Amino acid sequence: MSATAAISPSRSAVSRPDIAVLGGGLSGRLLAWQLIGAGARVALYERGDADGSSAAGWVAAAMLAPLAEAAVAEPSIVEMGAVGLERWPALIDGLPEHVFFQRNGTLVVWHQPDRAEAVMFDRRMRANAPPELLRGGVERISGAQLKDVEPALAGRFQEGWLLPNEGQLDNRQLLRALAAGLAKAGADLHWNTEIAEGEYPDAGLVIDCRGLGAREALTQLRGVRGEVVRIHAPGIGLRRPVRLLHPRYPIYIAPKENDLYVIGATELESEDMSPMTVRSALELLSAAHSLNPAFGEARIVELNVNCRPALPDHLPRVQWDGARLLRVNGLYRHGYLLAPAVTGEACALAQALMQSRSAPSGSADAFDWETWRASRPWPELFRQA
Ligand SMILES: Cc1cc2nc3c(=O)[nH]c(=O)nc-3n(C[C@H](O)[C@H](O)[C@H](O)COP(=O)(O)OP(=O)(O)OC[C@H]3O[C@@H](n4cnc5c(N)ncnc54)[C@H](O)[C@@H]3O)c2cc1C
Repeated sequence: MSATAAISPSRSAVSRPDIAVLGGGLSGRLLAWQLIGAGARVALYERGDADGSSAAGWVAAAMLAPLAEAAVAEPSIVEMGAVGLERWPALIDGLPEHVFFQRNGTLVVWHQPDRAEAVMFDRRMRANAPPELLRGGVERISGAQLKDVEPALAGRFQEGWLLPNEGQLDNRQLLRALAAGLAKAGADLHWNTEIAEGEYPDAGLVIDCRGLGAREALTQLRGVRGEVVRIHAPGIGLRRPVRLLHPRYPIYIAPKENDLYVIGATELESEDMSPMTVRSALELLSAAHSLNPAFGEARIVELNVNCRPALPDHLPRVQWDGARLLRVNGLYRHGYLLAPAVTGEACALAQALMQSRSAPSGSADAFDWETWRASRPWPELFRQA
């Protein structure tokens, strides 16, 4: 089927879905879930399994940290991320399986020789975050206060920042719960099904959410290699994700349920998906050990690698070809933070297109793209190509 064929009215063929979503990683699953909620008949095609183990989203720490990310991201990311963070609880509540979600904040700490990093972090965060997010969103913590805030780190740092409103979720539970929800809602699910570029399934609308798998179509897309270690460390009891500032290898440790921790992440300009290097393992594990030597007794459960799908501006994009194809991509290092806002916007565009096609005189030209785009909260998210 041609990628530029006109969109047909949604109810023209019984077996033909309204929307085919290509790629069932983070964005594809969440978008499919919202489309079904909006009343569309959806088919999902994923080259990997129902668990989501082929996705970058499987490896991620799934921290939801708009303020901490403000130190490395543009204001629009921070704004969309703040909206995403607010939307996650309702999205998760609608799913048929448990998904760990907490909003217990992020703790940022540094060793004294690296305190210049803290100055830079603070400056960048304040430059990129809106005042309403900063207000009540950043608390300076003294070494003495640390023992109450994060007892596992008592006595280990002279100061830090608590960003009390930030969150995190369990990425793997989320991917599984979305798969279960989609199955229950009657989505037409095709796991272990690879869709080659241009060989798209028949549907009213096709939405490409293949992450790095869409590189042939989005030639500017690149992968940014990320490595994380999963450890089991009973008895330490970190209450929230901790970011350790460092000039060469800043790391985080994100606690999940059942004493599991994700330590990450490297950020390397490479699309190499081969196993983690010894250097990266040493850096990540040494940094964890420097946070609290008790991590030395932890058990290494997994060493994971995947690549973040990034566009040159490091911003997400919802791209429309002017006919029946959308692409959602560029979620880079903020996929979990941004997905509710970005897939929510993609869902709104898909609905608007389907509605315009099902109008009596519906055609590709009937949709007023510029007016629609200008009416959205983040018009810059949308491109026509
Ligand atoms: C190490 C690491 C840590 C991260 N930590 C965080 C974090 O703490 N917070 C945060 O917000 N974000 C984080 N991210 C980013 C987040 O994981 C990504 O932004 C997000 O997963 C991108 O979502 P996606 O759906 O575009 O891509 P993916 O999640 O990669 O999903 C794409 C899917 O498409 C499938 N696919 C590809 N090609 C085809 C094809 N031809 N046919 C069918 N299916 C195909 C793939 O198998 C995959 O399942 C992290 C990422 C990494 C790698």
